[in-house]
Amino acid sequence: MSEAKFLPGDRLVEFLGSVPGDRKLVNVSSEECAVWGELSEAEPAEVLAGLRGARPFYSFKSVLMPASELVARYGRADGDPLEEVSKLTVAVIGVRGCECRALAYLDKVMFDEPMADPFYAARRENSFIVAVDCAAAAESCFCNLLGEAPYPEANYDLNLSPVQDGFLVQAGSEKGEQLLADAGSPLSDATDAQLEERDAMRRKAAEQLTGQNADYDFPDDFAATLPSTLEEVFWRTELSTCVQCGGCTAVCPTCYCFLLFDQAAGEGAYERGRVWDSCQFTGYSEMAAAPGLAKPDPRREHMSKFQHRFAHKFWYSPLTLGTLGCVGCGRCIETCPGAVDLRRVLSQANKAYAQDA
Ligand code: SF4
Ligand code: SF4
Repeated sequence: MSEAKFLPGDRLVEFLGSVPGDRKLVNVSSEECAVWGELSEAEPAEVLAGLRGARPFYSFKSVLMPASELVARYGRADGDPLEEVSKLTVAVIGVRGCECRALAYLDKVMFDEPMADPFYAARRENSFIVAVDCAAAAESCFCNLLGEAPYPEANYDLNLSPVQDGFLVQAGSEKGEQLLADAGSPLSDATDAQLEERDAMRRKAAEQLTGQNADYDFPDDFAATLPSTLEEVFWRTELSTCVQCGGCTAVCPTCYCFLLFDQAAGEGAYERGRVWDSCQFTGYSEMAAAPGLAKPDPRREHMSKFQHRFAHKFWYSPLTLGTLGCVGCGRCIETCPGAVDLRRVLSQANKAYAQDA
């Protein structure tokens, strides 16, 4: 990480205009929450407010993995969708610490060999990530319960830390270092007082998280706790309000499941597309069967789908990828129409485990 530089707030939008990207997406504040908008269309005041507030409701996952896209054309169809994707560069401005960790998780699944997804890889290579410290946490944020801090520590090109009258800027990659070296004015060296102000703001955000999550107590060892509590009654209570809408997986920055399908595209021409899928949907794990035979489905029961979301993120992912599949962003809590709160579910599992021990 480079030395911190100070960027005056009134030069922020001009500076962000210099980051590489055919498209530049940025957090802008709306009446209810921060959203992603095009930098070229945003008012400077909206950008300043968006980068000084809590994380946006939607993650930027759809930049790297659109909810729906073409992945192949064949027969008489023309054009290679991958070639089109490879031409576009995108800067994403306002990525929070939790999403930088989500990015590391998605990279393991979608980018690292031998199973790299060429579309994800092309977009990832063509992306420039500008992260930002959380000056405030959303009500559902709980990164502290996972032992994480509310500011980015890796997986970004530049990081912004809000301070009085502007931002401190630090590079986290060679691309970021180069951009800072070329920027010259309006950057100046950060003062000790500004560095202390940044650290105080980070402490304040961490204290907010500690306060709002004081009633929750997560297991020390998810892989021991979850399998031994799957029959506990609290799971049935939690399940009773889940309507299988899949909202929790759609907003989750680490959920990556997709469905492939083929469709006709004119005479002799065909396309292959893919759309986001959800482990919460009926039919998600159903397999093919010969005509007249029932299709096997290892997770036909609603409970088994409901528990799978928790098991995959907190039990299987550490086993297969060496890391949790949840970053504590709280989006699934905020979006759930059944008021399923992941913090409450895991705290109940922890309590039941402790009682049975
Ligand atoms: S958002 Fe809530 S109701 Fe919808 S599938 Fe997820 S847990 Fe169930
Ligand atoms: S499971 Fe919920 S809290 Fe965890 S990363 Fe996904 S949306 Fe965020």
